[in-house]
Amino acid sequence: MEERIKTIVELQKLDSGIDNLGDSREELTGKFKNLRQQFADSKKEYKEMTASSKETEKRVRTKERELLEVGENLKKYRGSIYKVTSQKEMESLDHEIENAKEQKSRIEEEILSLMEKTEGLKEEIAKKEKGVKEKKRVFEKEEDGYEKEIKDIEDKLEQLNRGKKEVIDVIEERLLSQYKRLRESKGGLAVVAIKNGACQGCYLTLPPQLVNEIKSSKRITMCESCARILYWSACPPE
Ligand SMILES: [Zn+2]
Repeated sequence: MEERIKTIVELQKLDSGIDNLGDSREELTGKFKNLRQQFADSKKEYKEMTASSKETEKRVRTKERELLEVGENLKKYRGSIYKVTSQKEMESLDHEIENAKEQKSRIEEEILSLMEKTEGLKEEIAKKEKGVKEKKRVFEKEEDGYEKEIKDIEDKLEQLNRGKKEVIDVIEERLLSQYKRLRESKGGLAVVAIKNGACQGCYLTLPPQLVNEIKSSKRITMCESCARILYWSACPPE
């Protein structure tokens, strides 16, 4: 293979490697961010539930105090029945007693429903707590692996970029900019091998004479159809 083609093929290999590593890094980072978010969300939900449970318990205590007060009032009203002297006073007292009884049963119902809510929340909180622990475990386990993998990718990237710099240094300016343009417009594939007499970029069958020329020629030849740089290799890559 002609030396210039060799270098450009090598450059493309390095560039593809760099792209793939970049993709892997992005995918890995996305996955890890997702795990971290799940863990954070789960913690937040647990906190909110705990706060809501505490708030409900506080409301139960307030209602219990109210109930006690209403009970005391009811006792007081009932105790005054014997001191009543007029029909009007009796009616008014009856009214107070009825009111207090209604209030009492209303507060009792409220307490019951608040306590049911607390019970439900307790169950949910226990479940959530388990969930938080599990998410924490997964996150921490992945964290180690993630940092190692990212480090590994960074090392490989550095190595490829060093290699790329060396290759670029020896490629002539014109060929390099042609390569860059092609790589950008042809989905990363600027140089392609000839396989079974066809361009491996667009699969156009090339005239045998052209293939022979490329085999022996010292000049850079491009595919007539897709404009990619063609090269001949005894064993083209799959
Ligand atoms: Zn082609």
